[in-house]
Amino acid sequence: TSAEPIAEIAAAIENHSSFVLISHVRPDGDAIGSQIALGFALMAAGKSVRLINEDGLPDNLSFLPGSEKIETPPAEPIEVEVAIALDTATKPRLGENALAAASRAKLWINIDHHISNPSYGDINLIDSTAPATGQILYKLIQSLGLPLPAESRDSIYTAVSTDTGSFQYPSTQAETYEMAADLIRQGLDVGTINSLIYDNHPFRRVELMRALLNTLEISKDGIVAHWELLDQTRQKLQLQPEDSEGLIDIIRGIQGVLLAVFFEELPDGKIRISMRSKDPRLNVCNIATEFGGGGHALAAGIRMAGPIESAKSRLLSAIDRAAHTAGLR
Ligand code: 5GP
Ligand code: MN
Ligand code: MN
Repeated sequence: TSAEPIAEIAAAIENHSSFVLISHVRPDGDAIGSQIALGFALMAAGKSVRLINEDGLPDNLSFLPGSEKIETPPAEPIEVEVAIALDTATKPRLGENALAAASRAKLWINIDHHISNPSYGDINLIDSTAPATGQILYKLIQSLGLPLPAESRDSIYTAVSTDTGSFQYPSTQAETYEMAADLIRQGLDVGTINSLIYDNHPFRRVELMRALLNTLEISKDGIVAHWELLDQTRQKLQLQPEDSEGLIDIIRGIQGVLLAVFFEELPDGKIRISMRSKDPRLNVCNIATEFGGGGHALAAGIRMAGPIESAKSRLLSAIDRAAHTAGLR
């Protein structure tokens, strides 16, 4: 890791002409938004750019201008000089096929805001105080004097809005709002874009909510809430991965609940676990790290071996230990 990653990134952009930008599997708004934001800024500066995601573009982000540039990994490696990983805490989370597609790159740049990121790039720009990778890119584009086309502007806003729960989480900073104000001054249509992000869900997402509510359990002392999605329910409702995005906030929002957990049985039998805390004494990144996952202090995730009942009991025991250590139980 360099002490001056911004200067090194400036030199890397100056000295190379071809870039592949990649983000994590099951991409969220910050992942796809960051790819479009930096990708279109680099293209406007005359660079050749490919935007690759292991799982491709989810339907809920297809409203973003520029999202048509997002591709699933091609079968053959791309002849490219520089690979840039965005919003991705560990290299494997880029996905096997995406990593193979970028394997010819001779320089790796890692831009992220996950505290658990081990700095796996040749150049690492990691700011764990930033609420979203999109905000790091907004500052980077400014410091490098890169253009900010409309695609980048709208994508930065979407990246930051989705990663902050609409500018609500404690990670939201004064400069986050200043950035949003600047984007609006630069022509962002804030009402329309908010509506496209938040008022545009497929009906099956509401059916998913109904199914999840039927499984909701709250611990006796009221501080832990969890619900679960079985693979058979996913199949019955024909769910897409993005349909569950953000739903955990419903149980995180229950009065007295400090920690919310979402257990999801994946088609391969693994269990995806999503955790949200609203108390800094319960650091969910630390709990996730015990099981090989990661994330942020108040939002973290794990992929665990099944079956779901054993994953639940292992995780709920770890949460119980953490609650005791924190003096909450
Ligand atoms: P979510 O619950 O929204 O999927 O993820 C919350 C946070 O935890 C995100 O910042 C995400 O990158 C991180 N995260 C989720 N799942 C995993 C995982 O399996 N491994 C790691 N290292 N981080 C994860
Ligand atoms: Mn993300
Ligand atoms: Mn993020």
